[in-house]
Amino acid sequence: NGGAPDPKNLRVKLVLLGDSGVGKSCIVLRFVRGQFDPTSKVTVGASFLSQTIALQDSTTVKFEIWDTAGQERYAALAPLYYRGAAVAVVVYDITSPDSFTKAQYWVKELQKHGNPDIVMALVGNKADLQEKREVPVQDGIDYAEKNGMFFIETSAKTADNINQLFEEIAKRLPRPPS
Ligand code: GDP
Ligand code: MG
Repeated sequence: NGGAPDPKNLRVKLVLLGDSGVGKSCIVLRFVRGQFDPTSKVTVGASFLSQTIALQDSTTVKFEIWDTAGQERYAALAPLYYRGAAVAVVVYDITSPDSFTKAQYWVKELQKHGNPDIVMALVGNKADLQEKREVPVQDGIDYAEKNGMFFIETSAKTADNINQLFEEIAKRLPRPPS
C-alpha cells in the first residue's frame, strides 16, 4: 500500500546475532525451507530470506530475515545490520559457555543502540546435543527474564521448537493501530 503499515499483514525486519557456529543460518534454513544441511559452511546462500506465517487471529507476519556473517567478525558493522530491525534473535549454542557469554554481549549492545521497541528473543540452539550440554537451561531462562526477552531452546537439526520460536515472536510484535 506504500503508506501506513497494514495491521493485519505485518512486515518486519528480523536480524540474527550470535557467535559464528551457533547455528543461525541453520535456524533460518530450517524455518524458511524446512531443511537442515549438516555440511553447509558459514553463511549459506543469500544473506536475505523471507517467510510469512499466519497467526490464529488471521493476521500474517512476513519476516524479512537478515543473516550475515559480517557482524560476527566486525562488531563495528553490527549497528548497520540491526538498524531498523523490529526483531533480534540472539543465538547461543547450549554446548558452548563462550557463546552464551557472547549472546549477553549482544543483548547489551541492542539495549544500548537498538530500536527501543525491538522484540528480543534469546535462543539456546543445538538442544539435540543434550549429552554435551554446558549451559544449563535455567541460566538461559534467568538471563532472558532479567532482560525482558522471550527464551526458547531449539534444534535446527531436529526442527524442535523452530516454528514455535517464530510464532512466539510474531505474537509479541507491537501492532500498529488499525
Ligand atoms: P552460524 O555461523 O551461526 O550461521 O552457524 P551455522 O548455521 O553455519 O551452523 C554451524 C554448525 O553447527 C554447522 O556445522 C551446523 O551443521 C551445526 N548446527 C547448526 N544447528 C545445529 C543444531 O541444532 N544441532 C546440531 N547438532 N548441530 C547444528
Ligand atoms: Mg551463518
